[in-house]
Amino acid sequence: MTEQLLIGGRRVDGPGASAVIEPATGDPMAEVAEAGPEEAREAVRVAYEAFESGPWPRMTATDRGRVLLRAGALVRERLEDLATLEARNGGKPIGAARGEIGLVATVLEYWGGAANKIFGETIPVQDPGIDVTLREPVGVCALITPWNFPAVIATWKIAPALACGNTVVVKPASATPLSTLALGEILVEAGVPPEAVSVLSGPGSSLGTALVADPRVSKVSFTGSTEVGSGIMARCAEDITRVSLELGGKSASVIFDDADLDRCVERSVFAVFDNTGQDCCARSRILVQRPIYDELTERMAKRTEELRVGQPLDESTEIGPLISAKQRQTSLDYLELGIEEGARLVTGGDIPEDANGGFFLRPAVLADVDNSWRVAQEEIFGPVACVIPFDDENEAIRIANDSPYGLSGSVWTSDLGRAIRVSKGMRTGVISVNSSHSVHPEAPFGGYKQSGMGREMGMHAVNLYTEVKNIYFSSE
Ligand code: NAD
Repeated sequence: MTEQLLIGGRRVDGPGASAVIEPATGDPMAEVAEAGPEEAREAVRVAYEAFESGPWPRMTATDRGRVLLRAGALVRERLEDLATLEARNGGKPIGAARGEIGLVATVLEYWGGAANKIFGETIPVQDPGIDVTLREPVGVCALITPWNFPAVIATWKIAPALACGNTVVVKPASATPLSTLALGEILVEAGVPPEAVSVLSGPGSSLGTALVADPRVSKVSFTGSTEVGSGIMARCAEDITRVSLELGGKSASVIFDDADLDRCVERSVFAVFDNTGQDCCARSRILVQRPIYDELTERMAKRTEELRVGQPLDESTEIGPLISAKQRQTSLDYLELGIEEGARLVTGGDIPEDANGGFFLRPAVLADVDNSWRVAQEEIFGPVACVIPFDDENEAIRIANDSPYGLSGSVWTSDLGRAIRVSKGMRTGVISVNSSHSVHPEAPFGGYKQSGMGREMGMHAVNLYTEVKNIYFSSE
């Protein structure tokens, strides 16, 4: 398979190309053109002209919505092909990949319906007349995405940006560009003017930097590591480019002794090991109240051992490979570090015998972890869970908040008052009670502290992709 860049509806080559690796085998599955700074400038030029004088920002919001609804329908029609592509490129179990592509369609449908419900206010100012606000598109949006949920994260940026009337240049991660390129074509097929959506694969260091630095880009929306996000924010500060950031996490599941343990164990295992732990929302710190600490650790370990690690396209697989050998090595290094720091390895952490060239690793549970250790403070982004004991509510909140991050988290208890107190006490953008569900297309998603700035999803995303204009009509 050979893939070109998508610039203004044209498939073009870049100055270079690189192999996209299938994580389950370690073999190349496609050759993808890589854009450099020149292609970045060309895609931004096309998007800028489309914004300044093209039809997309000038269409009625209702018509923009219809196009997004059509794109959602096309994604549903091609769900199986797109899911297979995502499963192979991302190393995801096929069932999970189907769920992700279904979410892509749902997000497009959400914004298809929302497009003509984005409006301003009428404000009773002290002067005679009428004061109104308009929600206007920001301009060209550079949308930069990571490799862990490629199509989903691209869509939750593209769909609101387009619904608000912006034009977009999307840069997927080099490891997983395939589904985003397919999505770009679907959007054009659905009726987005080709100039309004470009997709460029290529390295962050050259292509990503060129997009962020281009003065014609009015808005950067970035999802990725805190380190890269911080650099992007600094660059955006130079010319006051609007920027929103979804960054790393080290989220906590707080489990009290009155929780429904059957449900809690089942969900908590997937809350950390889903997507092989490569999930910004992974509840990788499992805080357990002392009276149930031993029982819960044992049950977590048992359920973890039962997880079926295997080939992404095998319907029974629950855990696929990591994205790369490097990412697996990072997890192995953290396991070694955690043990050195004093943790007890309860299960996992070994490479299965039938891994062959694939980047597989059995999910690992580290118990008796102290929250101050590096293994509990740093994002591992792999299948490693840290189990940490606590005594009471206040200690649980203190430990949960003792982190540079604040993206998501869970509270497990049958006491409603406690659920409310702990949810309010945790400094994190997303919390689920008796659940590990973080992402709802209709609800805001984003982080506190070093987990980011701004809220994607739901109508909160309108704040990211519009400017507010105030107009006063005098009646004097
Ligand atoms: P990364 O920061 O290395 O890369 C993310 C994207 O930024 C890629 O497309 C990359 O090519 C690009 N990039 C790299 N350097 C750049 C630069 N200097 N300028 C512009 N773009 C640049 O992250 P990753 O390894 O792809 O993804 C894993 C990270 O993403 C984890 O930290 C994870 O927690 C985070 N993440 C966060 C969320 C969230 O919603 N908060 C969701 C998924 C992933």
